[in-house]
Amino acid sequence: MIYDAFIVGGGPSGATAAEDLARAGYRVALLDRAGRIKPCGGAIPPRLIADFDIPDHLIVARIGTARMISPTGRAVDIHIDGGYVGMVDREDFDEFLRDRARMVGADRLTGTFLRIERDAGGTHVIWRGKTTGEEMRTTARVVIGADGAKSGVARAEVPGGDRIPYVIAYHEIIKAPPANASYDPARCDVVYDGRISPDFYGWVFPHGDKASVGMGTEVADVDLKKATADLRAMSGLSGCETIRKEGAPIPLKPLDRWENGRDVVLAGDAAGVVAPSSGEGIYYAMAGGRAAATAAQAFLRSGNPADLKRARKMFLKEHGTVFKVLRSMQDAYYRNDDRRERFVSLCHDIDVQRLTFEAYMNKKLVAARPLAHLKIGVKNLMHLMGVVSPKWS
Ligand SMILES: Cc1cc2nc3c(=O)[nH]c(=O)nc-3n(C[C@H](O)[C@H](O)[C@H](O)COP(=O)(O)OP(=O)(O)OC[C@H]3O[C@@H](n4cnc5c(N)ncnc54)[C@H](O)[C@@H]3O)c2cc1C
Repeated sequence: MIYDAFIVGGGPSGATAAEDLARAGYRVALLDRAGRIKPCGGAIPPRLIADFDIPDHLIVARIGTARMISPTGRAVDIHIDGGYVGMVDREDFDEFLRDRARMVGADRLTGTFLRIERDAGGTHVIWRGKTTGEEMRTTARVVIGADGAKSGVARAEVPGGDRIPYVIAYHEIIKAPPANASYDPARCDVVYDGRISPDFYGWVFPHGDKASVGMGTEVADVDLKKATADLRAMSGLSGCETIRKEGAPIPLKPLDRWENGRDVVLAGDAAGVVAPSSGEGIYYAMAGGRAAATAAQAFLRSGNPADLKRARKMFLKEHGTVFKVLRSMQDAYYRNDDRRERFVSLCHDIDVQRLTFEAYMNKKLVAARPLAHLKIGVKNLMHLMGVVSPKWS
């Protein structure tokens, strides 16, 4: 049997691509190696819940406030009016997405991708079956590489796929304490403090009876476990039982090419697609999976490999500007504690709050009020030039 599409990786990007292609009537194989829960804070925006039809039972916590904490310990609470940030447990979320793809016709395979081989008979994916341990050979017209950060498909098939820069993120899943003066099960804390991360941030994300506490950094010699222990101490969470400790890379920059000019297209972390500044990747992985499925359908119809380029084009058309803005924000404000202090202070501004929240919640860059962009731009510049001091009310 020849599949139309073989998808390597059953995370949010691969499962979305598989579901879209199967719904469109194509013969789809979805390979995942299974057995490991993806390390992830699990925060998802309302746009994701709406666009990808995520049922209520997967949302284990609804977050109404984001607390930004500065290096000197000052806090700005951003309240989410008329909505919430959802929290999902990846163990259940990813399995739900894979199973939804199966229910509309995708064949689920469990095993590890090894390589791609080509001959007169076509393109063959070579993978090792999990239960049998045997090498399998499956033929398909197009392959979607959705196997996450450090993707084997990207490294082997796509120019530049072996050179994506990464933040290493580490977190501990803990048993959540009862609500108290420092812990609120409906509030996410985002900690901008050089002692926790010299170039990214730390977080406390509630997940119902659990919470994710962690940090990320690109700096190689940072002791991630110590930084997380310090974050737990400063958040009053040292005494909570630790359920899991785990880390993983977060890619920092979308690849210049997502296809190999022949029969492979990438999606999600494999294509380097995670939002700068926030490290948000689930929504963008699913949007990337959808873009890859759309490009793959065009390729399957036309046989023209140039159609695979559509995935990157479509994605950047919708999200490229937000990525650029977030990248400049990270470059400008995540450098040292003085800048971080200014950044959190800037979050007091109601227009900054509305703009960043609209960008996060609904993936739109819109001005909250006329001239808001201009005002924010000027404030931004004054902070970066050191003309104004961080303001605290
Ligand atoms: C600590 C941490 C916290 C994070 N917190 C958040 C957050 O709160 N919100 C958010 O939006 N994003 C967060 N992210 C980013 C987010 O987790 C990723 O961007 C997202 O999971 C990418 O989805 P994906 O489908 O592209 O890849 P993945 O989720 O990594 O899925 C890849 C899949 O491929 C499979 N696979 C890999 N190699 C092979 C192989 N050789 N053979 C077969 N299968 C294979 C894996 O089993 C996995 O299921 C976080 C990341 C980290 C590391």
